[in-house]
Amino acid sequence: METITVRTGSRVEFIEISGQVRQWLRNQTTTSGVLTLYVPHTTAGITINEHADPDVVRDLTMELNKVIPFDDNYRHLEGNAAAHIKSSLIGASAQVIVENGDLVLGTWQGIFFAEFDGPRTRKVHLKLTPS
Ligand code: ZN
Repeated sequence: METITVRTGSRVEFIEISGQVRQWLRNQTTTSGVLTLYVPHTTAGITINEHADPDVVRDLTMELNKVIPFDDNYRHLEGNAAAHIKSSLIGASAQVIVENGDLVLGTWQGIFFAEFDGPRTRKVHLKLTPS
């Protein structure tokens, strides 16, 4: 397992990490298999969505903030209950097929780190299982 670092700049934000992941892949001896991307945080997540139009993740951010407001008489005393809920909705892991040393993604797809309680320095664990 290896780890990449993602620095986020906003409270809620989707940051494309496809480039960072591809760069990591270039240094691997395994060129074919399944890549698991795992976020070891309870107020962040990972998702695959459109990267061609940045408004897609802006809309996603806007709607998540609407559905899960920052304040809603939550019981969790730390003040970041909304971030925990968004994290569970989006999920903490993703898997992508790797062939010929590259990610098998659709033309419009990118891998996004999802920050819900930023800004922070975050981690994404990567594990390439050969096949
Ligand atoms: Zn909390």
